[in-house]
Amino acid sequence: MDIKENLNIVRKNIEAACAACGRETGEVKLIAVSKTKPLSMLEEAYTDGCRDFGENKVQELVDKYEAMPKDIRWHMIGHLQRNKVKYIVDKVFLIHSVDSLRLAQEIEKEAAKKGVSVNILVEVNVAEEESKFGTTASETVSLVEEIAKLPHIRIKGLMTIAPYVEDSEENRRYFAKLKQIYVDIIHKNIDNVFMEELSMGMTGDYEVAITEGATYIRVGTGIFGEREYAVI
Ligand SMILES: *Cc1c(COP(=O)(O)O)cnc(C)c1O
Repeated sequence: MDIKENLNIVRKNIEAACAACGRETGEVKLIAVSKTKPLSMLEEAYTDGCRDFGENKVQELVDKYEAMPKDIRWHMIGHLQRNKVKYIVDKVFLIHSVDSLRLAQEIEKEAAKKGVSVNILVEVNVAEEESKFGTTASETVSLVEEIAKLPHIRIKGLMTIAPYVEDSEENRRYFAKLKQIYVDIIHKNIDNVFMEELSMGMTGDYEVAITEGATYIRVGTGIFGEREYAVI
């Protein structure tokens, strides 16, 4: 697995997708999704300039946080259980997967205890897939309004995980819909809400997501290769 070469390809694709829709390359930030991958691979990506890493399990994020350089921005992109919030509130740069008021209240409580502010995205299940977490499109605005009242949380934007599809064009409508919700929220001018980030697009569909306005793309396989999951 040539991580440096893969990163080259992804970065070139980002440039091309930005050029195709008239955006600046700097508007799109690449998160290297390193879940299940060993430290040696993260170190390679780090050496090649990656400073944003994404993990989906609390324990793994904490272990890697301890082992890796301190200038890394850690992104929690997986479903977060309330009883594990306390382990990461002062370690993560951004939690992408906040999908309920109860989870936000737990983050508020732990952030207040540690005297920190936590940046979050609200996860929206735009495609309404039953297997996925995330709030529904129609409930997003009211959830944002409720979370905005919590003083130790800063809402920075929205995130979605699009369905797995063969043809990435099929996901364009979901990315466009997330962008629309994002714009609607901006127009509401809610106090303590800073709509700046749209986290959407993975290895199979990040170019489409970029043309629909993604500011963060989350790429795992395209950088580190296929993941192997232990069969339990
Ligand atoms: C695993 C994961 C990714 C990366 O997926 P790839 O298809 O390997 O790029 C992105 N986002 C989330 C939320 C993930 O869990």
